[in-house]
Amino acid sequence: MTRQRPQDHPASYYAATANDATRYPLMKGEVSADVCIVGGGFSGLSTAIFLADRGARVVLLEAHRIGWGASGRNGGQVQGGLQGDARLAAQLGERGKRLIAEVWYRGHDIIEERIKRFAIECDYKRGYLEAAAKPAHAEAQKLWLDDFVRDHPDHQWRVMSKHQVADALGTDVYDGGLFDGRSSHCHPLNLCLGEARGAASLGVQIFEQSPVLEIQHGAKPVVVTAGGRVTASQVVLAGNAYHHLEQRKLSGLLFPAGTYVVTTEPLPEATARRINALDAGVSDSRLVLDYYRMTADHRLLFGGLCNYSNREPVSIAGSLKPKLARIWPELANVRIDHEWGGKIGIVISRVPLIGRTASNVFYLQGYSGHGVNVTHLASEIVSNAMDGRSERLEMFERMGQYRVPVGQWLGNQMLALGMAYYKLKDMM
Ligand SMILES: Cc1cc2nc3c(=O)[nH]c(=O)nc-3n(C[C@H](O)[C@H](O)[C@H](O)COP(=O)(O)OP(=O)(O)OC[C@H]3O[C@@H](n4cnc5c(N)ncnc54)[C@H](O)[C@@H]3O)c2cc1C
Repeated sequence: MTRQRPQDHPASYYAATANDATRYPLMKGEVSADVCIVGGGFSGLSTAIFLADRGARVVLLEAHRIGWGASGRNGGQVQGGLQGDARLAAQLGERGKRLIAEVWYRGHDIIEERIKRFAIECDYKRGYLEAAAKPAHAEAQKLWLDDFVRDHPDHQWRVMSKHQVADALGTDVYDGGLFDGRSSHCHPLNLCLGEARGAASLGVQIFEQSPVLEIQHGAKPVVVTAGGRVTASQVVLAGNAYHHLEQRKLSGLLFPAGTYVVTTEPLPEATARRINALDAGVSDSRLVLDYYRMTADHRLLFGGLCNYSNREPVSIAGSLKPKLARIWPELANVRIDHEWGGKIGIVISRVPLIGRTASNVFYLQGYSGHGVNVTHLASEIVSNAMDGRSERLEMFERMGQYRVPVGQWLGNQMLALGMAYYKLKDMM
């Protein structure tokens, strides 16, 4: 059992500009429900909405505040596809390829439907550019797109030349790129808070500051907090990189890694337009990548530091500012107004962990840093399986995942070592 001290949202640009101050009560006493969900990020909330739409009585328990974890702190890039797709296709063959094609933008559809339905204000905008960090990456992007269009005839991608990318981003450090008109970006904390509001409006009982200490298995599992107990027919574990529950089944599969973001002071509108003329979410093509976008008030929001060893950096701004100054030397002296970090759940195969620890206890986690859309599509896969439509869930369960049986700390150091190799490769 792990006891956590409940916390408020950590300081960030998102917390400073959150547009919903709703507080949900503390869990106390005995409650019964059809489903109890552990975790109030996108995975948990999106599952709650799917289940409540089908008439289930849902209780959701969050250890801190709604959106306290990665969902309220991320880069806000809503990119298509999912991590580990090549491996999924290699292991599952044609069925895997079909699954990948079918779900590529499913998370986007779900998010856009929710934004409209619950009138969520979260600065959602379409447009994503993957900038090629090397000439070889620009060539690889073209080959990838040739392949992609075969399964997505109605795609909105286009190849951009080195000059077009330089015009779009106000820098000549890139060697070309790909633009996707279907991917998007948003203020993720406001999206998360809006989904919580939507879930509550459908009757989902949300409790904050209520860390789950234990899940007692049985025909009717009991989910235990310090102040109460929820007895449910089914349980969903959606704590991602922040939980330590169900370790007998889940240990050695997911490694939490710290990743970090800064926002600058608001930039003059002309500068904002020059460094991101398409107002797109942007990332580069390296494995350990920089990603950035403009906020609604013209700040540059820049991320690009991942500590696989799970150690905190000495200074987030001190680490990220040189990276952004390498892209735009004129921003070397820009003021950094906000800096923060959060944990992503890295899976060695990169294929998200979606499955069951018992016939009535489901989990979804391990998006390896690419979770805004995938949490939403994974929640649909899990909620369908809870309703007896488990074909897709079983495909994920059948994936051969690497289990590292050495404890989390040592596992993280091994992961850091492996990633150092790829960082070196990216630099060459
Ligand atoms: C800095 C950063 C930048 C990122 N950038 C991007 C990006 O640009 N695009 C993208 O697609 N992805 C990005 N990601 C990844 C993405 O944010 C995550 O994959 C996604 O938000 C995971 O959502 P989740 O609901 O599964 O987990 P989380 O949002 O982490 O939520 C888990 C919740 O469970 C709660 N919890 C844990 N244990 C318990 C317990 N015992 N009892 C009750 N509650 C519990 C936690 O308090 C937490 O609120 C980024 C992540 C970070 C940290």
